[in-house]
Amino acid sequence: MAEILVLVEHVDGEVKKVTLELLTLARSLGSPSAVWAGPGYSEAAKARLAEYGADKIYVAGAQDIADHVVAPKAELLARLVSSASPAAVLVAATAEGKEVAGRLAIKTDSGVLTDAVGLSDGLVAEQSIFGGGVNVKSKVVKGTPIVAVRPNSTAPEASAGAAAEEQVEVELSDAAKAARVVERVAQDKGARPELTEAAIVVSGGRGVGSAENFAIIEKLADALGAAVGASRAATDAGWYPHQFQVGQTGKTVSPQLYIAAGISGAIQHRAGMQTAKTIVAINKDPEAPIFELADFGIVGDLHQIVPNLTEEVQKRK
Ligand code: FAD
Repeated sequence: MAEILVLVEHVDGEVKKVTLELLTLARSLGSPSAVWAGPGYSEAAKARLAEYGADKIYVAGAQDIADHVVAPKAELLARLVSSASPAAVLVAATAEGKEVAGRLAIKTDSGVLTDAVGLSDGLVAEQSIFGGGVNVKSKVVKGTPIVAVRPNSTAPEASAGAAAEEQVEVELSDAAKAARVVERVAQDKGARPELTEAAIVVSGGRGVGSAENFAIIEKLADALGAAVGASRAATDAGWYPHQFQVGQTGKTVSPQLYIAAGISGAIQHRAGMQTAKTIVAINKDPEAPIFELADFGIVGDLHQIVPNLTEEVQKRK
């Protein structure tokens, strides 16, 4: 079976959900090989990758790989492309994954497709473009296909793989060491789940009105055990940090429940949340486009509705 390389995304030694999605996708295309870059590999990580179908795990555990930002990962993958001749390389369409994909494409003289939302037989990638308004099908016709797949576009499904392990030594080039990480500062994420992996997301938009008012969005999120998201209007206004922006130029989320408060439902926002299972919109304008997408709509002032909703949720806990 054709070998499909999957670059593992991991934090503190824990495999991120997107990698399990990529392994699930890779299984439908051939034999998945996980590529672990940097320190943190453990028996638990191996078991997790095997559980989702990794037939092989390449482990390049050198500290050097983590010390020099993104370039070493592209160098590691380029080396594996040359030695293993895989049928394709899959990475997550995250900020880092897309940079790795671009660098790898240059190194291997290959075509790259980003923001894929599906990948079928023959390595035809489905890409969501124009803010999710149009889907196109594309195929790499040069070199080794490199595909960056959006998080949350495939449901991860367990199916055991053989998990043969191979240690990989990489001699990094001077170019790969040109940028060095000088400090890592853990973000204060509080007790909230990670936005792209959360089962419930409560997002606020321009209708929230100010940075201070985002406290009511956070309170509802905390009552529900949810992550907080924001529209670009809210992040551009400086009311909420950019890393929480949902949409075409922000994060893609696919939770069980998405609550959009004071968000009009512009196509660029929808691109990041339209696959949510249940969408609830709170908006004072009954004509707001978000209601076309919503499963449940509440017409009214969010400054009254959101605190009432929070109180109700707290009562029922
Ligand atoms: P608005 O469109 O201003 O809507 C505010 C809504 O709040 C209105 O519907 C209003 O009726 C309602 N409202 C006001 N007050 C209240 C109240 N008291 N109670 C209840 N409802 C109230 N946007 C994103 O979100 N994510 C992206 O990633 C993104 N990427 C973009 C990329 C490009 C290239 C471009 C051009 C745009 C992008 N945008 C993105 C911006 C997008 O086009 C919209 O401008 C943005 O989503 C609007 O945010 P909003 O819905 O919060 O604000």
